[in-house]
Amino acid sequence: MTAPQPGHIAREITAIKRLLPEGVELVAVSKFHPVEALREAYDAGQRIFGESRVQELIEKIPALPADIRSHFIGHLQTNKVKRRIGRVALIESVDSERLLSLIDSLSEKAGVVTHVLMQVHVAAEETKFGWTPEELVEFFARRRFEELKAVHIDGIMGMATNTDDTERIKADFGRIAGVRRDILTIAPDLRGFDTVSMGMSDDFPLAIEQGSTLVRIGTRIFGAREY
Ligand SMILES: *Cc1c(COP(=O)(O)O)cnc(C)c1O
Repeated sequence: MTAPQPGHIAREITAIKRLLPEGVELVAVSKFHPVEALREAYDAGQRIFGESRVQELIEKIPALPADIRSHFIGHLQTNKVKRRIGRVALIESVDSERLLSLIDSLSEKAGVVTHVLMQVHVAAEETKFGWTPEELVEFFARRRFEELKAVHIDGIMGMATNTDDTERIKADFGRIAGVRRDILTIAPDLRGFDTVSMGMSDDFPLAIEQGSTLVRIGTRIFGAREY
């Protein structure tokens, strides 16, 4: 891992927060970085952390003060859902109806309400998980959300195509924000469907321009990851 300079993490967090308009929150994506790095971010005032592997989340969270909020942002395998229930503030990456139903039934059993975002796929890459905009709008048109007993859908999450083409990135973010508006047109009675999670280290200013309310930034804060 390229070790960042001392104080780098705190400086980046302060610099990024200055760029965020009111109403836009920062998720510090700490996957593959040690607890000491998260602690430095915490001491700089950061409270929301994003992890993409269940095991890592389980190991790191107890080592940090209790007022942090952890977001799960990776592909969640169904056999690992149970270990997350009640331990995560927001699951940002609900990419199928099957996963959503499972989170719902396990949350109900555990007596908790789990907050989630629906992950929408608009990027060119085949490999990215998520609902297509059409599938997601259709889900809400069928009012499937009314059947949920212990899940609250807070909004949507998405990623832009991995490209240097600024116009393409903007269009992808515009499309993600547009899906949320389409859903609210179809289901205007949806409550608390406010979050649009989009924007990472290289593209978050474009995401904010297009209506992001939650940016997920890793590399810029913690340095490069060594997988
Ligand atoms: C790793 C990751 C990020 C952070 O990406 P950076 O380019 O390091 O800022 C954001 N969102 C998701 C879903 C990720 O997996």
